[in-house]
Amino acid sequence: MAQLPEFLKSEGYVGGQWVAANSGNRLDVLDPATGETLVTVPRMGAVETTEAIAKAQAAFEGWSRRTAVDRATVLQAWAAAMRANAEDLARLLTLEQGKPLSESRVEIEYAASFFSWFAEEGRRLYGDIIPSHRTDARILVTRNALGVVGGITPWNFPSAMVTRKAAPALAAGNCMVLKPAEATPLSALAIAALGEQAGVPAGVFNVVTGGREEAPQIGKALIDSPLVRKIGFTGSTAVGKQLMRDCAGDLTKVSLELGGNAAFIVFDDADIEAALDGAQICKFRNAGQTCIAANRIFVQESIHDKFVEALCARAQDIEVGHGLEQNVSQGPLIDTRGLEKVERLVADATEKGATLHLGGQCHAAGGTYYQPTVMTGVTPAMDISHEEVFGPVAAITSFRDEQDAIEMANDTPYGLAGYFYSRDVGRIFRVADALKTGIVGVNTGLISTEVAPFGGVKESGIGREGSKYGIEDWTELKYICLAGLEAAS
Ligand code: NAP
Repeated sequence: MAQLPEFLKSEGYVGGQWVAANSGNRLDVLDPATGETLVTVPRMGAVETTEAIAKAQAAFEGWSRRTAVDRATVLQAWAAAMRANAEDLARLLTLEQGKPLSESRVEIEYAASFFSWFAEEGRRLYGDIIPSHRTDARILVTRNALGVVGGITPWNFPSAMVTRKAAPALAAGNCMVLKPAEATPLSALAIAALGEQAGVPAGVFNVVTGGREEAPQIGKALIDSPLVRKIGFTGSTAVGKQLMRDCAGDLTKVSLELGGNAAFIVFDDADIEAALDGAQICKFRNAGQTCIAANRIFVQESIHDKFVEALCARAQDIEVGHGLEQNVSQGPLIDTRGLEKVERLVADATEKGATLHLGGQCHAAGGTYYQPTVMTGVTPAMDISHEEVFGPVAAITSFRDEQDAIEMANDTPYGLAGYFYSRDVGRIFRVADALKTGIVGVNTGLISTEVAPFGGVKESGIGREGSKYGIEDWTELKYICLAGLEAAS
């Protein structure tokens, strides 16, 4: 069995206690690279979630009444604890998720950065004084915590998606009940354990673990509770829509970070080497399992063949293997469902006329490994143009001119990220304006940072995480009309 960090507790975390499921049932957490069980965690459900909500509610009074500086001190200590244990956290992340250790290290720093950033933003949660409509009154506006909030996170960034929610929520004075993904609960539990060390009071941050069968019960318990005032969800668009429908019942606030179908456009005036660097990282990072991955690559006709040849050369050099092995730059896919999806999309595209230049098969390493793949001649008739691939498959289409590229890029119900490469300043502003996405990367394939707002438009979601805007969604405005202030006569 793999060596796990000493601070990891393989129980749920409720009200400051490490607890099993009431049923005693447990869930295997697997290393996706080997299929071996790393550890088991409790299969918790509605009852344990309701208990966690009660503990969070009990903690809310004390936590929300602390000064912002006081809360910031705890969050800064939490960030420091993550950084001090970064190597252990990164290894744990690779073990349960599969990404190469180098990428896990980057994710751990990204995750810790949300605690540092929102510790500071919590101190700047300013209100307003508005010029009054009455001579005897003042209008004050304050920003207040919501109360108990729920967080539901996916498996592809098991550390950063937790802190991108918990940090702003707690900085604003809320208390959270978090449900991590079935495949990757360990990073969330490790974060909770380090929070405990850093002085996060009991009940302020709770983790309820469970499997795919329990997820709907946990979600329902959160949404149906009158105490839970917001659900922050990152995951698929289908589940996000369902949660939003369910939240309509008692108007629980939602923010949704959902799926994407990013276009990556290379114009003929681009720096081709830079575009290749960007395409490589944006397509093959995390074996293609990112919501902002280059799902559709559009290359202008005159440079198409040269670009494809060079991308194939780079993809050929990708070392596939266990993420803990040295020099490995692509790990396995998360599970067999993920693998089957990639196989289905590649088969559909090739049957409908796409040309394979590289890969296109399961990798010889077996399990859920898939070959780095490059295909051209991709058309809107192919499913790969419309669905998130979530695999290491570069799907390339050539285009004639700028208008052609913009129309194809926007031909999707999703609107999370879009990328393009150009050195023409007029084109840069035109295309950045025209792309219907929440995020635009110009001459870069790497756009994630805690200081910028992350989120989508259309069916990619509602709300923003990170940045100065990311804390607002975890608060409610209160208008106070202070009257009776007429000057003494
Ligand atoms: P998912 O199947 O929607 O699951 C996401 C989370 O929701 C998991 O914790 C899952 O639990 C839980 N869940 C599933 N059904 C639920 C229900 N009925 N009620 C409450 N919770 C429920 O998505 P995924 O496959 O884990 O993640 C991949 C998706 O996330 C992709 O579409 C990707 O684009 C998106 N994503 C978006 C962003 C962004 O910032 N926009 C970032 C990362 C990922 P179980 O795991 O236990 O089923």
